[in-house]
Amino acid sequence: MSKNLEQTIEKICADYGHDRTRMMDIVRAVQEKFGGVSSEAMDMIAGQTRTHRVEVEGVVSFYAFLSQEPKGNVVIRLCNDVVDQMKGVQEVAKALSAELGIGFGETSADGWFTLEWAPCIGLCDQAPAAMVNDVMVTCLSADKASEMVRALKANPNPGQLTAGYGLGDGNNAHPLVQSMVQNNVKKTGEVLLCDVPAEAGLTKALRKSPEEVIAEVEASRLRGRGGAGFSTGLKWKFTRGSKGPDKYLLCNADEGEPGTFKERVLLTERADLLFEGMTIGGYAIGAATGILYLRGEYNYLRPFLEDVLRKRRDAGLLGNDILGKAGFHFDIRIQMGAGAYICGEESSLISSCEGLRGDPKNRPPFPPQKGYLRKPTSVNNVETLCCVSRILDKGAAWFAAIGSGKSTGTKLLSISGDCKIPGVYEYPFGVKIRDLLKDVGAENTQALLIGGPSGQFIGAESFDKTICFDDLATGGAVVIFNKDRNMIHIAHQYMEFFVEESCGYCTPCRTGNVLIEKCLRKILDGQGEPEDIAYLQQLGNTVKKGSRCGLGQTSPNPALTTIKNFRAAYEAVLKPVTDGMQPTFDLKAAVSDAEALAGRHSVIH
Ligand code: SF4
Repeated sequence: MSKNLEQTIEKICADYGHDRTRMMDIVRAVQEKFGGVSSEAMDMIAGQTRTHRVEVEGVVSFYAFLSQEPKGNVVIRLCNDVVDQMKGVQEVAKALSAELGIGFGETSADGWFTLEWAPCIGLCDQAPAAMVNDVMVTCLSADKASEMVRALKANPNPGQLTAGYGLGDGNNAHPLVQSMVQNNVKKTGEVLLCDVPAEAGLTKALRKSPEEVIAEVEASRLRGRGGAGFSTGLKWKFTRGSKGPDKYLLCNADEGEPGTFKERVLLTERADLLFEGMTIGGYAIGAATGILYLRGEYNYLRPFLEDVLRKRRDAGLLGNDILGKAGFHFDIRIQMGAGAYICGEESSLISSCEGLRGDPKNRPPFPPQKGYLRKPTSVNNVETLCCVSRILDKGAAWFAAIGSGKSTGTKLLSISGDCKIPGVYEYPFGVKIRDLLKDVGAENTQALLIGGPSGQFIGAESFDKTICFDDLATGGAVVIFNKDRNMIHIAHQYMEFFVEESCGYCTPCRTGNVLIEKCLRKILDGQGEPEDIAYLQQLGNTVKKGSRCGLGQTSPNPALTTIKNFRAAYEAVLKPVTDGMQPTFDLKAAVSDAEALAGRHSVIH
């Protein structure tokens, strides 16, 4: 047993109070030190945290960024999201592979480099993009990828890449961020992407009682910006009303829906507004602890966010008796994720914060009754909490006057795909798709994906619809596809994503998504029959009904909504069965494996 390994693990576990619920931090720290979490390390961690080895192994095996096998000192994760594929990621992949001499999923013989795919890293507006350890590299081309590898071979410090390619705008150039990422804010609005006075919302909130704060948020009719659109005021009322002294406020900063990147901008440019909103939320529900669950892909923002928190503590904006309010104690810690889409689902996020695999939990009980550590918990989205700060400053009536109908305020949209001006746009709710397309410079548009792959594909007949909870609801992702795109191919790519991200707990989601993906593959290969449409619809609806969490309840949407709105694309490639024989069935190809095994040739013409 290595003495160094033992001592280091003892120290890491001691830093986290030998607390099993801090398992994510412990295994991340061990991996950072040793490149992986070996079998020996897992035994030691289990001993130090007085848990079973299988618990540690369960965590290490669940998250994409954790590994039992040591990875290279430099891990290049190239994003293969649909938008990256549209922007030429395959050429970048070839260049990386050729320059490194390894394939995807492999580590170089000298142990220096590992090359992997990543499903979505929050940079669709700057695709193709990659993570090199924690350094984000944007707008890659084949030449830039080759040059990047040569630079890393000469100096295997990913930090030097930023110096070479230049820094992004705003706080991306902050000494603690030092990133080449661009904010790409293309349209400012009157709620979030405008000048916001520091702590005005918190100061006014603390002059009210917690009940009055909740009433103000309720009066604004603020609905959660993560996609589900539940009333924030109501959620807080339920959490405050639940029995027990220990309550928690969790902020979901795990935006992993392909096509979403607006929270990256809020975390970079509105960190104080977010922490202010979390503090107001803590005051309202009666929580002393807030947790910001930050997706692993945004680790590059962590030192900056920790610094903002430290400054807030120094300024009396976190800690005891905040802003002189006797008895109001509240602090925030950051919990890092480790590459799991499912952790954007609130009960999975809670599991992850508890140091467990990111498995969804059964509901009821709902988090406001029993959430984090089985205590009343409110889980709110980054954008929602930023809105709270503004509502407490400017008043519920001001906020409720913006937007449309039951959708008050503004919405940040991450817009990417086939358009000239991808980026982050702040619109009042109620913006028409047609106007949005004009603003982003989209021409020849065939389809939009509203709300990411768990949302819906719409076509030209819906371009007069509006973005709002009553019409086209979205957590923020809008991906545009022009008329040259094959919608079945796009739907298939998103189904591959869901197959990869399903946690596998329940059968409809685990197997149903695979069957949908295979059927779409068959259609793309020219083997589809008209009956496949009904089969896909029935299967998709079965998966939605039979799945336990939001992932399975929405994952068939790429297939279902392309069939609904782009049926002609399917019908154009489906061949009817004649005389009991499928004309597109290639009998010779189908028996070729059997022929090879038997060493015989069939007489098939
Ligand atoms: Fe896991 Fe899918 Fe079931 Fe959700 S629906 S619990 S992701 S298998």
